[in-house]
Amino acid sequence: MFQKILIANRGEIALRIYRACHDLGIPAVAVHSTVDDDAMHVRLADESVCIGPAPAAESYLNIPAILSACEISQADAIHPGYGFLSENSKFAEIVEAHDITFIGPKPEHIQLMGNKIAAKAKMQELGIPVVPGSDEKINSEQDARRIAADVGYPVIIKAAAGGGGRGMKIVLDESQIALALSTAQNEAKAAFADDSVYIEKYMSTPRHIELQIAADSHGNVVHFGERDCSLQRRHQKVLEEAPSLILDDTERQRMGDLVCDAVRKLGYLGVGTIEFLYENGEFYFIEMNTRIQVEHPVTEMITGIDLVQEQIRIAAGESLQWQQSDITFSGHAIECRINAEHPKTFIPSPGLVTRFHVPGGPGIRIDSAIYAGYKIPPFYDSLIAKLIVHGSDRNECLLRLDRALREFVVEGVETTIPLFVDLLQQDAIRDGNYNIRWLEQYLKLE
Ligand code: ADP
Repeated sequence: MFQKILIANRGEIALRIYRACHDLGIPAVAVHSTVDDDAMHVRLADESVCIGPAPAAESYLNIPAILSACEISQADAIHPGYGFLSENSKFAEIVEAHDITFIGPKPEHIQLMGNKIAAKAKMQELGIPVVPGSDEKINSEQDARRIAADVGYPVIIKAAAGGGGRGMKIVLDESQIALALSTAQNEAKAAFADDSVYIEKYMSTPRHIELQIAADSHGNVVHFGERDCSLQRRHQKVLEEAPSLILDDTERQRMGDLVCDAVRKLGYLGVGTIEFLYENGEFYFIEMNTRIQVEHPVTEMITGIDLVQEQIRIAAGESLQWQQSDITFSGHAIECRINAEHPKTFIPSPGLVTRFHVPGGPGIRIDSAIYAGYKIPPFYDSLIAKLIVHGSDRNECLLRLDRALREFVVEGVETTIPLFVDLLQQDAIRDGNYNIRWLEQYLKLE
């Protein structure tokens, strides 16, 4: 096992990793930018190293500074969390070249899944159904017209290197394709320094269902069931739940087996998530995330398994602790992503948190690095807390969630808590009868 783990991240996920380290008895090193010297992960970690100024490019993405921090602190492993360098295959390679363990998949798999065109082709080869579309990058307008006509409108143009819901353009008919293609390419180049785009069938009312997996270095692969992440705004998840209401045990097992088989053939190492759109009883792969995800706690709540500890154990060469038959699901869990944003306009609201009181009681978990007196800097993601609630069934979970949201007090900044209070009153949410477009439609209607 590792002697010391460096956490190359900030915010709630840095704290989450710190907790997993300490629960395994491993000291943790925090890194931070100059504006984060008061951050909770810095306060709690056993050691901390400042790695640069506020802009992420100069601190949380500063590879030489992070490696120096590792050397100074003599950490023998790095946990990248999510975002920042977590899906940077070059970073993973450099870390390994310095005889430090990267707590994550092999660089080749990060690279493969980082290009969504290559990822889809590989998954299809491994027997996973994918969203119909181009199997290569779009090279010209003629290419785009031909493929879109083959696939059938509406289509969606997506960035091969995309992430965070950015760089997608929906094309309703042929008259829109030329403009959509050049806009998508320009946006992809600006956001990801890569203008490769591809075309997919635009699915009108799917649900977003993803499977959590883990694979060790001894050939064992298991899945931990699914998460339903269909409540989205701007293609980004807002609320996630597990299990999904629309999957039965047979379907869950069928997809779980298919995905585990593919992951095994791939020789993948670590935890990962295979994301699908699900419509009319069929799954269509869209991408694989090669890291821990924001919404991993809902899976932890229904399985009782600590996925971050598991990542660490796998990276240290240990075998998975369970066979598939040991993994059972209990009750229902829902996560709300609480952002420091205006609940109606979604305009970010950084600043001083004057009061912070979190809900408690049975079945409630808060993953947050906020405290009263903390100043939320304007430089980073606006996620300030995840409220995760577990109940013996979905009904109990919803009742607890409603209670917890009303107990939650954050003053000094705007938050999206009122949005969730409102959403829980809506029949579509109460009945679990929503797809990836529901929230956008609802917000427009208001
Ligand atoms: P990112 O990596 O940016 O998160 P994804 O490919 O995972 O992009 O897609 C994010 C979300 O965008 C999906 O959950 C879904 O809501 C929407 N989306 C992506 N592809 C399609 C598609 N072919 N049809 C309809 N919606 C899509």
